[in-house]
Amino acid sequence: MKTVFQKIIDGDLPCDKIFENERIIAFKDIAPQAPVHILIVPKKAIQDISHATKEDALLLAEIMFVASALAKQFHIQDGFRLLTNNGADAGQSVFHLHFHLLGGKKLGALG
Ligand code: AMP
Repeated sequence: MKTVFQKIIDGDLPCDKIFENERIIAFKDIAPQAPVHILIVPKKAIQDISHATKEDALLLAEIMFVASALAKQFHIQDGFRLLTNNGADAGQSVFHLHFHLLGGKKLGALG
C-alpha cells in the first residue's frame, strides 16, 4: 500500500507544495510544530535513513542543500532544525524517508 507521501509524490493527494524537482519534493507539514514546518522528501521510496545506501549519497546531500535554501527562503537561516525520525520508537509515522525543517520560533532542547 502507498504511504501518504507516495500518494503526494504521485499526485494522488494534494499538498501545499514549496519545492519540486525530479528527485525531491518539499511541502508544508499538515500539523505544524513551528511557524515554519516543511517536509523535504526524496521521491525515491526509501523507508528511513537506516535504509539509505551509498547510492543515495548524492540525493541525501541534495536534500541538505534544498533544506538550506528553503531556510533562507523562509528567513529562518539563523536558527532552524533539520531532523529525521528513524523508526516508530523515534516517532516516525510515515515510512517514507523525510526531513523536517523547523524554525520561526525558539526551539527547545531535544529529548
Ligand atoms: P514523522 O512522524 O517523522 O513520520 O512525520 C510525519 C509528518 O507528516 C508529521 O509531522 C505529519 O504531520 C505529516 N503529515 C502526515 N500527513 C500529511 C499530509 N497529507 N500532508 C502534509 N504533512 C503530512
